[in-house]
Amino acid sequence: MKQKRFILPESEIPTQWYNVVADMTNKPMPMINPATKEPITAEDLYPLFAEECSRQEVNRTDAWIDIPEEVREKYAYYRCTPLVRAYSLEEALGTPAHIYFKNESVNPLGSHKLNSAIPQAYYCKQQGVTNVTTETGAGQWGAALAYSAKLFGLDCAIYQVKISYEQKPYRRIIMQVFDAQVTPSPSMSTRAGKDLLTADPNHQGSLGTAISEAVELAMMTPNCKYLLGSVLNHVCLHQTVIGLEAEKQMAMAGEYPDIVIGCFGGGSNFSGISMPFMRHNLKDGKHTRFIAAEPASCPKLTKGEFRYDFGDETGYTPLIPMFTLGHEFRPANIHAGGLRYHGAGAIVSQLVKDGLVEAVDIRQLDSFAAGQLFAKAEGIIPAPESCHAIAAAINEANKCKETGEEKVILFNLSGHGLVDMTAYDQYISGTLANTGD
Ligand SMILES: *Cc1c(COP(=O)(O)O)cnc(C)c1O
Repeated sequence: MKQKRFILPESEIPTQWYNVVADMTNKPMPMINPATKEPITAEDLYPLFAEECSRQEVNRTDAWIDIPEEVREKYAYYRCTPLVRAYSLEEALGTPAHIYFKNESVNPLGSHKLNSAIPQAYYCKQQGVTNVTTETGAGQWGAALAYSAKLFGLDCAIYQVKISYEQKPYRRIIMQVFDAQVTPSPSMSTRAGKDLLTADPNHQGSLGTAISEAVELAMMTPNCKYLLGSVLNHVCLHQTVIGLEAEKQMAMAGEYPDIVIGCFGGGSNFSGISMPFMRHNLKDGKHTRFIAAEPASCPKLTKGEFRYDFGDETGYTPLIPMFTLGHEFRPANIHAGGLRYHGAGAIVSQLVKDGLVEAVDIRQLDSFAAGQLFAKAEGIIPAPESCHAIAAAINEANKCKETGEEKVILFNLSGHGLVDMTAYDQYISGTLANTGD
């Protein structure tokens, strides 16, 4: 029998995260304080984020950062996750490529977001914080954080992008099961929200508006920290458990990836699967290609501009050096809510600028066609976000079919789509469009 799943025991949960910045020749430019125009220090971030996360955010020297034992214990609820060889998908495509995926959908919350929610909640608890707040789009990050906050006994308030709050009630309910307080953004509960609604009473919300509101709440509430689910360096750092496990599992399969693919919202799952392999490109002369798959309707990497921009709509965050569509960009209402973000994290932006990471954009209908093909072959219904990675993987596998090359393709399955069935319903019934492409 051919081995399909490569499984590591709990004892193989990584003991350290990998900080690629330490190994990059061209480091990302620093975040800038918009008021003083000075580079941001860890101390500047303390009012907003947990102190340890703030230090990780600006760490440019340590390639390896210890994972606290309590975080590893919580990771053991669902890690190590399986690496799977997608034999049926290969067969369905008739490709000579070997396709593997890392299955980050197998935790109770259904996406990779838990990998960073757990340590961020842990570091807050450790320094005596009592309340946490955040934004969420489709709700995966909110669900992961609501649960992580519960694990560490923190109160949790979440601003959810209004369009998702209305279109995707199930994840709101999941957050509420974990006692989180969920508010649709823009809302009247913050200055930022009030201003946005005064200017446009029908504002549908975006990750940018929800971030503004959560940041404002954190700044106004004593003992409250803001936690972010993507984009920032420390979030990408936490996600490297994905690639570090995958590296060992690829070795179990006796292969090494020629191509690594992740879907791209702000960069966390893409960084998680990619950076441990990128390390070998930077240090050991490997030539793996890295492909970030973004939606055609929110194409910051393929069509955006590299410059300093705010991470949120109102301009509360530091200025981040990023590929951006502009912080006031309003993404179309595609189902891949987690990819509706105007910018890309500083690390991946720098790597794209230096030609070390490639980007492709995928249209909504092509993403669902790929997702359905994958579901029929492998029995897993992927998250609409993950469908973008699958589409990019299929495109590469189809190229191998033309050239006859037996390339090894690894992609990250960032989440399952079982709470996104209205999206599949629309796709199957033919009412879904290439919105905003
Ligand atoms: C949030 C999310 C994404 C996009 O965020 P990144 O930080 O770019 O990874 C992708 N897939 C799923 C399932 C998500 O929940």
